Amino acid sequence: MAEALRSFQIIGQEATLDGWKTLLKSGRFGHAHILSGHAGVGKDALALYIAASLNCKSEKGQACGECSSCRQFLNLEHPALSLIFALPRRSASQTDPFAGIKDTEILEINKQLAKKVTWPYYHLQIEGANDIRISAIRQLRKNIYLANDPGSTRVVIILRAHMMNVEAANALLKILEEPPSHTVFLLTTEYPDRLPDTIRSRCSQHHIPDLSWQVIRDDLIEKRGCDQVQAEICARMSMGDLAVAHRYADQDNTFWLDQIRATLNSLATKDYASVHNQVLFLSDKELQNDESRQQFLSLLILLFRDVALRIPEGETALWAKQVKQIGKLFPDCDSGLAIQAIEKTKDALERKVHLQLALTALFFELRKHLRGKTPGKLT
Ligand SMILES: [Zn+2]
Repeated sequence: MAEALRSFQIIGQEATLDGWKTLLKSGRFGHAHILSGHAGVGKDALALYIAASLNCKSEKGQACGECSSCRQFLNLEHPALSLIFALPRRSASQTDPFAGIKDTEILEINKQLAKKVTWPYYHLQIEGANDIRISAIRQLRKNIYLANDPGSTRVVIILRAHMMNVEAANALLKILEEPPSHTVFLLTTEYPDRLPDTIRSRCSQHHIPDLSWQVIRDDLIEKRGCDQVQAEICARMSMGDLAVAHRYADQDNTFWLDQIRATLNSLATKDYASVHNQVLFLSDKELQNDESRQQFLSLLILLFRDVALRIPEGETALWAKQVKQIGKLFPDCDSGLAIQAIEKTKDALERKVHLQLALTALFFELRKHLRGKTPGKLT
């Protein structure tokens, strides 16, 4: 089993895997399943594991990761596997999802798939791939009713299934209503609510739990050779998304911790110029993008959460030092209100409000909450 987990690179989902194995061995494995959960928790990796388990030559109800069938699934080239994902719209073809897509684009798509093969947590990044259209489902329909290799189970994996447009979803529904024999559908999605009720009611639904930041931290240390501080910052900023955490690990993340420190320092004094400089820095569209600003704010939330919880000793020293420092400098810090203010700003930034105004307002509010003593408050 350890070998299989290494091959499929699934981390931190032992209980979930045990549940699937029990279900696979029970003989009551349904023909359609939705695997939902946050981005980067391992839905695609699990779907691949399930697909391989249904076809493994050496194990029953699980995947060995070593036999020829498992290897073919791991390489996304098993003849019984249909992998569906969003593609750029280059033609109005109703039957061929690849119609009109240029050779250079095909090459790029193949490169993306190769990355997915190397690491199933990789998020495919295909330019202009905004939806899964009826052509993809029509093509699937053409293939799945053909005779199957006896003894094998055909598996259709639809990645980010919520990207199916209405026509595609309706076409899939028709297939699910009269499913071909020996065929299993696995739909992965972060947004199961965006799938039509009619599809959801035909599938059994499985929620894939979040990965803890500690699991992600350990993975970064093991696979990336990150040091504790770097690993912890990346893990925490990723908000449970393993792929994002690995992406952050490529960047210099002590940078963000420095920014947090600079921000808190400027809030600790009456130095309005330095607050203003921090706002200018964070709202600079050349230096930051929406994602990096959200990262910064997420990290700030985590910091205040730890201040409120007084995290135990033994966590990353640098982080603990920062938490302790806030505790010491601001003994009356109202972390709850600080977190509320940051969350409000995060929401506002998603609605494209005026950046500088929103951040300035936030910093002045934080300054107040750090001190905690609101005028008129009875102590
Ligand atoms: Zn196998």
